[in-house]
Amino acid sequence: MQSKNLLILIAGLLLGNSAVLHAQNNKADKLLDKTINQKQTTTLLTTLSADNMEGRKYGTPGIRKAAAVIAQQFKEAGLQPAKGDSGYYQNFAIYNSHIINKEIKINGVQIADSLSAIISTQPRIQADQQSGYEILQPGNQHELIKLLGQRRHPSSNALVILPKKFLRVLKMMPRLQQHQFQSDFTTIFIASDEAVKSFDIKAGNQLSAMHLANIVGILPGKSKPEELVIFSGHYDHLGTDPSNKQDSIYNGANDDASGTTAVMQLAKYYAKSGNNARTLVFAAFTAEEAGGFGSTFFSHQFDPAKVMAMFNIEMIGTQSKWGENSAYITGYDKTNMGELLQKNLEGTGFTFYPDPYTDQHLFYRSDNATLARQGVPAHTISTSKMDAEPNYHKVSDEISTLDLANMNRIIRCIALSARTIVNGTDTPSRVNTADLD
Ligand SMILES: [Zn+2]
Repeated sequence: MQSKNLLILIAGLLLGNSAVLHAQNNKADKLLDKTINQKQTTTLLTTLSADNMEGRKYGTPGIRKAAAVIAQQFKEAGLQPAKGDSGYYQNFAIYNSHIINKEIKINGVQIADSLSAIISTQPRIQADQQSGYEILQPGNQHELIKLLGQRRHPSSNALVILPKKFLRVLKMMPRLQQHQFQSDFTTIFIASDEAVKSFDIKAGNQLSAMHLANIVGILPGKSKPEELVIFSGHYDHLGTDPSNKQDSIYNGANDDASGTTAVMQLAKYYAKSGNNARTLVFAAFTAEEAGGFGSTFFSHQFDPAKVMAMFNIEMIGTQSKWGENSAYITGYDKTNMGELLQKNLEGTGFTFYPDPYTDQHLFYRSDNATLARQGVPAHTISTSKMDAEPNYHKVSDEISTLDLANMNRIIRCIALSARTIVNGTDTPSRVNTADLD
């Protein structure tokens, strides 16, 4: 604790936090003390952010150590594995594609390699007007962004004709080629300002798979088992930077060992409290830093209509811009979930604020986004000062920079705030998908 905050701390203990202290007499709070205490929070966070996890980059031996720790915690908490998963491991693969022998003729003329790209997990690509390819031609930037989003989960083969003013889009294709879910459908991009009357496209594709796993545990609901509430965080981070001789390891203590620790602690708390009417799903996602692959795969395993709420927890290790005992909720105004949570915290001195960094579109950038886009009240809880977090995505994101007492209180307050959603008495309103950006 920083000394300049001592007065604030004392004032907080005397005033705002008194309800939390008094309430420790009742059973629920003894359980909170037992399951979500600073000692265990510190131990888990220390383990996940240790140097031997090598920055927890997806697909590396380091992250597999972290996965084993999380699976063991879920087991000790008494969670069940999800149906179809291998133990607590929800396995999936992403594919790296290397396109070879590309021949693309438009209106009978071969076009330069640099004017095309193919996104596909098919071993051979062959397309002409007779192949049933949809032809898509984005006219403006808005249409282009929408189209790129749709082509992440294509339901048809498509030839996308990019006006040359959008040529720069082809620069992001190597990244998309590197990380793809298996798909039956191919997207071919060509940059052209000409009317396309005919096309003849042939290419080979060298594919390699990378095997990844989310860690998922279930606490079946006592009376409304078909209704789901999800608690999640991502356990991957950025790996290592061997060129950095001082400190080569991205420990990711805040991002997002802190959220993953919260998920493990909440699992213990709710398993012990044993009064969850709804089925609780606890998930640690992989490959968030590569573009949300773990949460995307996870989210597609559910019927969104059955998911009543999602608490995604991302970077809660530092104090928020409002100081101690506060956090913000992304997409706060999209549902009434924030209000419900705050109502359950009355008298605790803890505040959930609306996300103050709306220009950063955090609601759409984190692991809650896939389900939120399908109407689920799926929000991310964070304290990260997105305009001034000195260790964000740096090797210095280490446990020594975090406020663990505050972080532990945040986890406790998430547990308290979620109780009425967990026990089935509150149901947050849904996201209106018609007014999403
Ligand atoms: Zn993160």
